[in-house]
Amino acid sequence: MKLTEIFNKKQLSLSFEVFPPKTDTVFDSVKNATEEIAALHPSFMSVTYGAGGGTSKYTLDIAKNIKQRYGVPTLAHLTCVSSTRETVREKISEIKKAGIQNVMALRGDIPAGLENADRSTWEYQHAIQLVRELKASGADFCIGGACYPEVHPESINQSEDIRYLKEKVDAGCEFLTTQMIFDNNLFYNFMYKIREAGITVPILPGIMPITNANQVDRAIKLSGSFMPQRFKSLVDKFGSSPAAMKQAGIAYATDQIIDLFANGITNVHVYSMNKPDVAAKIQANLSDILGQF
Ligand code: FAD
Repeated sequence: MKLTEIFNKKQLSLSFEVFPPKTDTVFDSVKNATEEIAALHPSFMSVTYGAGGGTSKYTLDIAKNIKQRYGVPTLAHLTCVSSTRETVREKISEIKKAGIQNVMALRGDIPAGLENADRSTWEYQHAIQLVRELKASGADFCIGGACYPEVHPESINQSEDIRYLKEKVDAGCEFLTTQMIFDNNLFYNFMYKIREAGITVPILPGIMPITNANQVDRAIKLSGSFMPQRFKSLVDKFGSSPAAMKQAGIAYATDQIIDLFANGITNVHVYSMNKPDVAAKIQANLSDILGQF
């Protein structure tokens, strides 16, 4: 199923992101965790793709398994920046062969040490080129892209970031998922600006449940996202107790999602970090809301 069919229903829905195993030895445990999440029957599941090789090997195995065993629509991530055109074309044909209809077209992070390199000779500099490659492949993919309510760290300013985002959408992105947000108001401001810029595709806010204090620094480092004082106080108070922090983190994420639904957002994407218990609790917290609207 193409994800646009889900979005067109305009019903409240939750989807979950998982990541594939980094090594063969943990393949089974990761596969089991993703199956437990699939058993919750979210509206769809996305499977990430490692930019520098690493976890990219298993993205399709995990996505195919979820789709075949649980009938959950899947979204396979694909990055391009550190790949050749030949590799990207091979990957696209593998995705097509696996029967995956939805692809998240990403640039990927610039490999360490190459941040200041001359990128003009690279085969891919930006995600838009991957979007075009997917379109040119002849497969009828539903293509998604990433967006940044708090501005991509390499952008000079938000206007420029949104201008390039519009070009990416015009090239063929049918929906966008945001970088993780912890303050919904920043997301609402972003929505206003992108709608004003003429971007009309569905936008899925990305919600990351922080369930242990150690995740906080890593999440900020990875995303650059703003942590509101309300969230910091919660980590301050409950961070020393794993059980209490987990409960508080799930409650915070649930509260964010309810606020998003109440303000007109229909599809929320949860960075489930391969934690079936966290995904299940968030879904259970929203069971009557998801069932009725
Ligand atoms: P782009 O759209 O290319 O944007 C990157 C920067 O370039 C921005 O500053 C943009 O404004 C600018 N730009 C865009 N087009 C142009 C242009 N034509 N000319 C000049 N500047 C331009 N990484 C992974 O490795 N694997 C994953 O599975 C993965 N999943 C992700 C999922 C989501 C929802 C998000 C938000 C991010 C994900 N990432 C993933 C991280 C992502 O690869 C990085 O954030 C990366 O730095 C940017 O990718 P992008 O696709 O947004 O790039």
